[in-house]
Parts: sequence; C-alpha cells; structure tokens
Amino acid sequence: MSQTKEIPLMEKIVSLCKRKGFIFQSSEIYGGINGFWDYGPLGAELKRNLRTTWWNAMMREREDVVPLDATIIMHPAVWKASGHVDTFSDMMRECPFTKKRVRADHVEPQNGIIIQFTGARSPSGWAFEGQFSMLMKSNEHIESFRKRVRSLFSENRSPSVPNRKSSIFKAEHEAEGNWKARSELIHAQILAPTLQSFTVKVGDVSYEAKASEIWGKAEEIELLGEEKCDVVKDSKDFHPETGAPLSTPKPFNLMFHSFAGATATESDKVYLRPETAQAIFVQFKNVVDSTRVKVPFGIGQIGKAFRNEVTPRNFTFRSREFEQMELEFFIPPDEAVRLIHSNVAAWSEGADLSVPQPNWGWEMWHRYWVAQRTAYYAGIGLGADVLDYHWQKMDELAHYARACVDILFKFPFGTEELEGIAARGDFDLTQHQKRSGKPLEVFDEELRAAAVKLTDEQRRDFIAEVQEDWNDRNKSREDAAIFCERLLKGFYVPHVIEPSAGLDRLALAVLTLAYTEIEKTDAKGNKETLTIMRFHPRIAPKKVAVFPLLKNKPELVAKARGIYETLKKHMAADYDEGGSIGKRYARQDEAGTPFCITVDFDTLGEKGPELADTVTLRHRDDGTQERVQIGELLGRLLPLVS
Ligand code: ATP
Repeated sequence: MSQTKEIPLMEKIVSLCKRKGFIFQSSEIYGGINGFWDYGPLGAELKRNLRTTWWNAMMREREDVVPLDATIIMHPAVWKASGHVDTFSDMMRECPFTKKRVRADHVEPQNGIIIQFTGARSPSGWAFEGQFSMLMKSNEHIESFRKRVRSLFSENRSPSVPNRKSSIFKAEHEAEGNWKARSELIHAQILAPTLQSFTVKVGDVSYEAKASEIWGKAEEIELLGEEKCDVVKDSKDFHPETGAPLSTPKPFNLMFHSFAGATATESDKVYLRPETAQAIFVQFKNVVDSTRVKVPFGIGQIGKAFRNEVTPRNFTFRSREFEQMELEFFIPPDEAVRLIHSNVAAWSEGADLSVPQPNWGWEMWHRYWVAQRTAYYAGIGLGADVLDYHWQKMDELAHYARACVDILFKFPFGTEELEGIAARGDFDLTQHQKRSGKPLEVFDEELRAAAVKLTDEQRRDFIAEVQEDWNDRNKSREDAAIFCERLLKGFYVPHVIEPSAGLDRLALAVLTLAYTEIEKTDAKGNKETLTIMRFHPRIAPKKVAVFPLLKNKPELVAKARGIYETLKKHMAADYDEGGSIGKRYARQDEAGTPFCITVDFDTLGEKGPELADTVTLRHRDDGTQERVQIGELLGRLLPLVS
C-alpha cells in the first residue's frame, strides 16, 4: 500500500515562498550562499508593508520619535567604543570532520554510541594509524559515516594548503621519488583534530606525523579497529550532523569586515554594522541640535545589519544579512525625575501604561514599550496566542542593562525571539562620550531649576542617597558623586530603552502564521489541498485583484481595467484575466490577496439595471461574495488595507 509522507510545515512554507516569489535563495543559480536570502516580487511587497507599519506606528503616528538613515559602514572606532570589536562574538565549536561550525549554545543534545577506530588503510598499502572516535546514532549513521570518509579520501581534490606539509613528510617522499605522484593526493586533514599523532605507512615505510598533516591518496580506504565504546545520552559534545567530537569552544567575532581605502591594510579596516543602533547613539547630538526634540524622545531607524552567524538556520530566521527596525528611546535618569517631581513612578502590576507621565522612571518606560510593541504586533495579526515573553534573569542580562525582555513568536521550529526590548541605562552614550571625547549630555532647565531650590543639607542627602543606591548596584561611589555634580547643574547623559526588532524574522513570522491549507472536493469528487495565505490585509503584498469574467469580451475587460486603474493608485492591486475564475481565486489565495473583484455580465446591466455597475467582491478568508457598487469599492477597501 502506498503511503504519502507527511511533509513538515516549514518545508511546505519554504517551497511556497519560492514557487510564489516570496523568498529565494541568494545567488541560487550558483548554488546559493549560506545565510543570505532575496525577497521576490511578493516578498518585497510584504517586507515593504511591514516596514511601513513599523515606521508609522513608531514614528509617523507619534510626536516624540524622529527617524534616522545612517550608513552601514561607520568609523571603526564606533565598534571599539560599543564593545563589538572585543566582545561581539559567539562561542563556537567545530566539527573536525567537515569543518562545520556550531554555536556552543545551539548544539542539539545527542544520543548514541561512541565508536572508536584505530586507523584507516587503502588497497595500495597507504594507511594511517591512530585513535579517533565518533558518535554514531544508528547503524545507518555508521554506514553513512563510512561512506563519507571514503568519499572524502577518494575525491580527487588538490591539496588546499600544500606549504603546510611537514618537512619530514615531504623530504621522505621526495627521497622516495614519490613526489610527482603526490601532486594528485588529496587533503585528508578532516580527522586531524581527533588524532594527536599517528603513523603514515607508504609501502613498507612508516612515518610519524602530526594529525593535521595527513595526506591521503585518491582511492577508497577502509576504517580499522572499529570498537564500540560508551553509550552517550544528551551530550552536547558531538556535531549533530556528523557525530564527530566537537572542538573546545572558541570565541568567533560575528562582524564582517572590509577595507575602505586603496591600501587595504589594517589601518583601512572597517566593519559592516552588526546592528543599526550604534549610528543612533553616534548621531544623537546632531539630532538634538538640529531638531526641537527634548528628552524623553526617540530616534528610530530601519536598515540592513550584518552578522557572520556561525550557524545560519531555520530559513531566514538566522541570516547573515538582515534588516533591523530599532528605536532608541531616551529618558532622563531616575535621579533627575526624582529631583524634578519629588517621586519616581515605578511599575507595579496593573499600572496604567496608556499615556506616558512626566514622573515615570525607567521601569515604567520599559513596560510602556513592551505594551506598545505588543499592541503593534496585535495590529498586524500577531495576537497573544502566538506571542510569548522571556524576561531575562539577572544572570542573563548584560552588565549595564537594568532589564530585557524578548518578545517571542511561536515559529513552526520553536518559540523564538522576534524582538528584544532592553533598558540599557546610559551605557551606550557614555561609552561614545568617553571614546570620542565629545559631550553627549543634555541640559534640562527644569532639572536645574529644581536643583537650585535645594538647601545644602538636601543636596548632601541627595548625593548620599544616590551613592548608596549606586553602591547597591555595584557602581562606584566616586562615579555617583561626579554624576550628581553634573545633575545638580542640570546636565545628564540620557538613559535609553531599546525596542529592537528584526524585519526578516517578522516577515517569516507572518508568512508562517498566514500559511493555511484547506481540503476541497471538485465537481468530479476529487480531493485537493489548497493553500491560503491569510495575511492581515494591512500587510498583504497585494490588497486586491481585479478580474474580467472573460478576457475575450471587450466590455468586461474595459470595465475591469477601469476599476484596476482607479484602485492601483491607492493600494497594491493586481489585474488577472488568465484561466477560470476558480483558478484565479486560487492564485490570489496563495499570494494572500484579501479581496478579489470580478466584473461579469451583471456589471454591464445585462440582468437588469439594478445590478448595473456592481461587481462581485470576494473575501479570501471565508470565500464569501457580495455585490458592491463600483463607486463604493475604494471607500470600502481603503480602511481595511491601510
Ligand atoms: P539572537 O539571540 O536570536 O541571536 P540577538 O538577541 O542577538 O538575537 P539582537 O542583537 O537583540 O538579537 O537584535 C535585535 C533583533 O534583530 C532580534 O530580535 C532579531 O529579530 C533580529 N536579528 C538578530 N540577529 C539576526 C539574524 N542573524 N537574522 C535575522 N534577524 C536577526
């Protein structure tokens, strides 16, 4: 009996994305490039709509946020000051077999049996001896491992680093007159890190060599001395694909670099930004000086970011080039709020977060932005049922952060981060102030006025309290005194709340959420599975599609084109006259178009004047249809799609 294999949901989504033109692998005709993705015609529209919803919600519809559009490459000193040059790295472990790297904290726990080998031998007498072990999950796995080793040894590759051969090794072979033959040898250092030293035999002669210097001949080899050892449970020490023991974790900086300038020397080294946020801090002073913004206010930016991720995975979820939508919302330090308002409104369960208040401290602002961002997601169809929150614990937080919450989305491959909202204190501006030597403080007239009113005793008490508080948070009393001195003159470095979202992750979230399959039985009784992309109309790539019932009736075509011409000035619209109406609906359902309009003979008044100039408006999600006057279409659709 034939059995249809269930295709995993992500596989179906990836395939639909390619088939319908949402997302393509970058450089696909050259085999693709890991971690890079292109958005096709529908994907580009979808992404643009998402970008617009963020831009509008975070800036256009607010009075307290302004935009920025900064360069991808900035002065390298920016990344020294931000800490990215020294610390923006993931701990990485390497498979000695394939050289594939995995993030140490992303290794899936493995179960299996460790098998030890004592060497390998080729039919022509070439061999090496030495211990190496692999984790085997099943007999199938053992066989695929054997095949892999054989193919790696037998592929006719040219040595990739010929100069690194050991001199002993080279000398011996040259003396034997074997050197010419060795130019066809392949590089076999795949097993090297698991072997410390070993013996290579050619004919009757044995050579001691270091593992990384093995060279094998282009022929099949046999693994020797197979022995089953320990049973391993939930171990993170083996590569999930190959079973090879992983190397010890090493830091791996995630920043891509290049050179700006003709000499391409170390002094010309620049970085592709790994986040958009730093440009906001670096341009903070220019924005303050060139606009009328006053703390509390925000600067938002949407743009590309680049990270040389160790393990790009889950389609676009973890890419090496991606787009971020980041807001830096600058607030006064709590100490300034206390001086001006005599109290600081701290967050408590049930607190009213709807309208910001002047006496809010960082915690209220942080909660406010979590609520704002949650409302934003609900507005594009990502409700409480698909979101989750991870409040970072004290030991997960960066040393300067007061709090950080990750907004998570329930992706088919797991519940993962969509956005992080961090209360970063004054770390970023202070770092740039220190490194650049340029003051990044603001002056607050109200604060100065409040400070002037304090008696000497009140000033002393205030400073002592601040010092006590900073001390409790492991910050120095001296720094607290310097901070108070500036504060009492009306100056401070603003603190920041940072909602930082990934546009590509959001696009992937809405694609996976929209994906729906329905079963339909056609007139002949055949069952088929249809796909509907149930995007929220505000983000759907195309909002409406217009069809003439028949393409060979000029009156129908003229009316349909007239409607299309009108609508396309206001929203992304499609015109389609190919195939049956059912096929055209199905095509639009797969593209996620929420509304379809059909012009038929009733539109021409053939069934009577009461239906003249009406069309069928079909709703994607429930398939319902209604007659609507052509003149009412724009007014009906516009509020639903914008
Ligand atoms: P993760 O823990 O998943 O690596 P992160 O905490 O390092 O993410 P942030 O530095 O806070 O991420 O970046 C903010 C947002 O940028 C993330 O919430 C995510 O939406 C997006 N983002 C970060 N890295 C990537 C990536 N490699 N591919 C796609 N989006 C990303």
